[in-house]
Amino acid sequence: MSSRGTETEASPAVRRADGQVHVDAPAMERFVGAIFERAGCDAEEARRIAWRLTGANLRGHDSHGVLRTRRYLEWMEADKVRPGQRITVERETEAIAIVDGGYGFGQTVGEQTVDLGVEKARRHGVAVTALKNAGHLGRIGDWAERAAEANCASIHMVNVRGSLIVAPFGAIERRGSTSPFCAGVPRPGEPPIIHDFATSVVAEGKAMVALHGGKPLPADALVDADGSYTSDPRPLYGETPEGRTPDPHAGPGALAAFGLHKGSGLNFFMEMFGGALTGSGTAAALGDTGKRRFCNGMFSIYMQVGAFHSDDWFAREVSAYVDYWKAARPAPPGGEVLVPGEKERMTMAERTKSGLPLSEGVWEDILKAARKVGMSDREVKAALAGQV
Ligand code: NAD
Repeated sequence: MSSRGTETEASPAVRRADGQVHVDAPAMERFVGAIFERAGCDAEEARRIAWRLTGANLRGHDSHGVLRTRRYLEWMEADKVRPGQRITVERETEAIAIVDGGYGFGQTVGEQTVDLGVEKARRHGVAVTALKNAGHLGRIGDWAERAAEANCASIHMVNVRGSLIVAPFGAIERRGSTSPFCAGVPRPGEPPIIHDFATSVVAEGKAMVALHGGKPLPADALVDADGSYTSDPRPLYGETPEGRTPDPHAGPGALAAFGLHKGSGLNFFMEMFGGALTGSGTAAALGDTGKRRFCNGMFSIYMQVGAFHSDDWFAREVSAYVDYWKAARPAPPGGEVLVPGEKERMTMAERTKSGLPLSEGVWEDILKAARKVGMSDREVKAALAGQV
């Protein structure tokens, strides 16, 4: 199957413009869902994974979207991530739950964990979940959004055990990962405010997007083998053997921690909370004989707004502050000052209409993933068209 000149290309949901492939989000969701179902996930989990990956693309976070499909399949094949898992609660008090994700898909065990956390917060006002051994949790903003749906403000601190791709401030060598931080507050009747970012200058997936010919990286995104800052993603991956997915652990350089010494320190604290306090384990340690098994650890705090305010004071104060923030005079004349999460909402509105833009390389990769699980051109086309 090749992306050009096949039956697949005849689908009205797939269009080419400006050197990119544009795929309608519902079609992409069906297609990626069909791939995961064919790979062995039950229909519900396949749909959930596809919905969340597509949702990341819709919000502009292509790094955590459908481009992950092939890598997730490779992980499934290698038993690095397991379909059909349910979290195990290892220790529990009224407000705390330490849960083991059993290497289940993050889209599944993440959802189960957040639901447990918001239920505890509903009963006790505040709750903490410590999730260990989770498969890739994707876009962490998803979890703050889910908590906000239950009127919870939340904070999420995540590490990536076994992933050494980020160099600390002042270092050349890798010591940790892109460890995301996320905080959110609900707004009744309006979208929540969510801030969600990797504690590296860019998320690893953004380097992968650039490697595939997508959006270029900032000049300080990586350090090369000599410790110089560069926008070139190749020092992260090194040479990729034919037919393999680029491996961010294989290159001689590293991603740079964001925000100089301050961001680098926040990255360190993702290991303390997401790695050490959860019991999941930090990225690595001196004396390790092998690479630690890959997983996400996520430390989350949920605060039920109703336990703090008995009326709508919080909602009014948040709205008033949003207006005050946005009324700041923009630096570029005619520019707009955004609150956290606003950019994602703007991108989502646009992409819902225009489709998800993908580089040829990423689209080709997803088609390869479909072929890998045995889908024919006809089946791909049917999935895109919603005829399955
Ligand atoms: P980013 O650099 O695009 O920053 C995103 C945040 O900045 C959002 O809160 C956004 O609303 C805000 N923002 C963006 N532009 C803005 C502007 N002009 N004004 C005001 N606010 C603005 O994100 P990133 O660091 O590339 O992270 C991308 C995604 O990767 C996140 O969803 C993160 O959770 C995810 N991630 C996941 C893992 C994992 O292991 N699961 C690891 C790393 C990153």
